[in-house]
Amino acid sequence: MSKTIKEIREDLDSKKYSSEELTKDYLKRIKNEDGEIHAFLDVFEKEALLEAKDADERIKKGEVSILTGIPCAIKDNILIKGKKCTAGSKMLENYIASYDASVVLKLKKQGVVFLGKTNMDEFAMGSSTENSYFGVTKNPYDLKRVPGGSSGGSAAALAAEMCAFSLGSDTGGSIRQPASFCDVVGLKPTYGSVSRSGLIAYASSLDQIGPFGNCVADVKTVFDAIKGKDSLDSTSLNIEGENNLKNIRIGIPKEYFEEGLDSEVKETVLNAIEQYRERGAEIVEISLPHSKYALACYYIIATAEASANLSRFDGIRYGFKELGETLNDIYVNTRTNGFGEEVKKRIMLGTYTLSSGYYDAYYKQALKARSLIKKDFEEAFEKVDAIMGPVSPILPFKIGEKTEDPLSMYLADIYTTPINLAGLPAISIPLELSKEGLPQGLHIITSHFSEEKLFKIASLIQWKKI
Ligand code: GLN
Repeated sequence: MSKTIKEIREDLDSKKYSSEELTKDYLKRIKNEDGEIHAFLDVFEKEALLEAKDADERIKKGEVSILTGIPCAIKDNILIKGKKCTAGSKMLENYIASYDASVVLKLKKQGVVFLGKTNMDEFAMGSSTENSYFGVTKNPYDLKRVPGGSSGGSAAALAAEMCAFSLGSDTGGSIRQPASFCDVVGLKPTYGSVSRSGLIAYASSLDQIGPFGNCVADVKTVFDAIKGKDSLDSTSLNIEGENNLKNIRIGIPKEYFEEGLDSEVKETVLNAIEQYRERGAEIVEISLPHSKYALACYYIIATAEASANLSRFDGIRYGFKELGETLNDIYVNTRTNGFGEEVKKRIMLGTYTLSSGYYDAYYKQALKARSLIKKDFEEAFEKVDAIMGPVSPILPFKIGEKTEDPLSMYLADIYTTPINLAGLPAISIPLELSKEGLPQGLHIITSHFSEEKLFKIASLIQWKKI
């Protein structure tokens, strides 16, 4: 059933099956598979079938957009009006969204079918989906392993064929790393190319919504449907970057192949790059000298922004509330018992680096490092069309393996965080499975707003048979 959007479109338009039948198939699969995998936090059985019937009407009348009648799953930090939106947190366990995220509205206009909301690390903080208040999601390729995170539910739902595409969010790797762990394609768009209105904010200068798909073309289709300037997000833009592709030059950053990279992942990634060479691409070694500061810089900036963004969860305005004698007691009780450990740790870290005594030493330094990281990429893109490397330094790890060692968990994002700091677009595409049968991904990065070029380069090589 792992069909591409294009194939489903043709089948729906030629009446091979209806959207209602297709939706029923996906719902059945969710029923059969998701007890074990736990990709979904909420499944919209009734509404999905109604949306499918509406889509079938549209198809009958010929009022069809590319995504009409196609069933999808949405990460649970993206608002769908009238539906719970938990962000994987006890804090929002019973929170009902009062409006649609702009991306959801765009998909609704196309007549997309919404199957449900997917599991995630609490407030998108994590790399394994183990930080969800609602329990871990399992990797469909090996149920003892994590699906990656924080958008682990969206990646696993697609990999287990429980939807045709899904949406996630990526602040430091949360689309690309789970895509790589679950053998699907995942895109982190250029910062500003997709509206963040209706996304529960983690770190606003880094967050982007993006699609997971079974192939590069599917990810392009969904990206085209959700992108563009939106008056509700003043950082969103309509810009066309440099999308011409003549003779492809690919840069290989030497810093991305150093110590810490699993030898099997390294070999697979280098093999993939070799295939680009065989197809006529010129491969050049480049250097991104400031990438060694990226992870530290990310954890200062992301936690600083998170500490501000999460201050709204105070027991008064949203969700979970725990009473106390004074207003301050209400804040303290609510936040102590509503947030999980990782989230509290990050709020404290962020508050600390923004405090008057430490602002210059940490936050300001991190902003300077961020500029240098961005400049490294700008200089690299004067010489090359794309940069390639691994998405994750390691293969999907076992559930529980890294929960006691947060630093080794943070290292899972060593190659993905610099891209968010620089605001660039990047994609993870599946490579061949490891000897043990575990997924791994190739990371391709291009310059700002050059997603078209990214898709062209990514589709030159397609390993996965769909
Ligand atoms: N794993 C990283 C973190 O924990 C990135 C998460 C994300 O992209 N949302 O912050």
